[in-house]
Amino acid sequence: SSGNVAIAEREIIYSDLVAPILKLNGSDCVTLRVGQNYEEPGYVAGDNCDGNLTSKVRVSGTIDTSKSGVYTLSYSVEDRYGNKTSVERRVVVVSVGTSPKPSVVVPDGKVIYLTFDDGPGPHTARLLDILKKYDVKATFFVTNKPKYKNLIKRASEEGHAIGIHTMTHTYKSIYKSPEAYYKDLYGMQDVIEKITGKKTTLFRFPGGSSNTVSRKYCKGLMTFLTKELVVKGFQYFDWNVDSKDAGGAKTAEQVFQNVISGVGKKQYAVVLQHDVKKYSVDAVESIIQWGLANGYAFLPLEPSSPGCHHNVKN
Ligand code: ZN
Repeated sequence: SSGNVAIAEREIIYSDLVAPILKLNGSDCVTLRVGQNYEEPGYVAGDNCDGNLTSKVRVSGTIDTSKSGVYTLSYSVEDRYGNKTSVERRVVVVSVGTSPKPSVVVPDGKVIYLTFDDGPGPHTARLLDILKKYDVKATFFVTNKPKYKNLIKRASEEGHAIGIHTMTHTYKSIYKSPEAYYKDLYGMQDVIEKITGKKTTLFRFPGGSSNTVSRKYCKGLMTFLTKELVVKGFQYFDWNVDSKDAGGAKTAEQVFQNVISGVGKKQYAVVLQHDVKKYSVDAVESIIQWGLANGYAFLPLEPSSPGCHHNVKN
């Protein structure tokens, strides 16, 4: 009441904990041919406090469209409270069209190509005995198992085709980048050459060319590899009959039924099996008997055989 004033202060912090939203226009994976220009499809950014932040987006990364490869562009934006959002776009540059496609020769007559992945293993010797008994040939997409490497040699000597599958079958390392995939592929090609004396160019992608698991590690990778490896002189094989021995089928009878219903009336069939599964090997004798009774020849894959390529999903 005498006019003396007391002052106290309270600090109020207006804090924003919400990061901006950053959205890419167009796809997060763009495929170009070598020499084709990259045109940035653009992006939009917004924030709960700052509003439109599109002009504040920073783009980093370089693309060399003169060289095939998988390139990454990084986009990031920060609001005035330091909340940050980043996204990536992959740009896949492929040299498709610079090299002729290998010619595929459709076999005469009815053919079953039995193919076995992930071996050799404890059941491979028995499988080779069965194949020998009926004098039929198959294809082995092999992995690096030093303990069983003599079985790769035996399979090759007995007239079966040997193709590359993978050194490790570890998706997160082999599908990290084109370089990581090449290292695995060429590594296994060398292992096979040391064992058999022959350089094979046949291969099967772990999970097939239609796998989506690789998308988690490198967007656009399968689009890149399926084109580039053909240019490099390799032939990849998927399948048009799945025995489902890696999931679904758990007995020899189920494997047999899946295979014969899958082959059906097809003129040629590339059958997927795994010789590391006992019950799948157990089904082979019945499959061969059925195939022979129905007029099929069992042949090993060759570079010109039909690849039965799946639709690439990454
Ligand atoms: Zn496999």
